Amino acid sequence: MNYPNLIPRPDCGHAVSPQAEACVGCGRFFQLFATSLTVDWRGWAWTIGRVVLAVALISYVLSMTVYIAGMQRLN
Ligand SMILES: [Zn+2]
Repeated sequence: MNYPNLIPRPDCGHAVSPQAEACVGCGRFFQLFATSLTVDWRGWAWTIGRVVLAVALISYVLSMTVYIAGMQRLN
């Protein structure tokens, strides 16, 4: 049993294709691939969350400024 296109995984020892996302022998995801995916997803979520927070804060301050300016003009 010697497949030239399969490489043994260092973490579990099973021979798996380099293009595979998970081990065919034990089903575990490849650590490097899964870690990079998780970090990417968290980074994007964190960036999007910060942008949404910033936009919400800026729109709140702007609306309050317009509201206060309108009140002052009425008085
Ligand atoms: Zn395995």
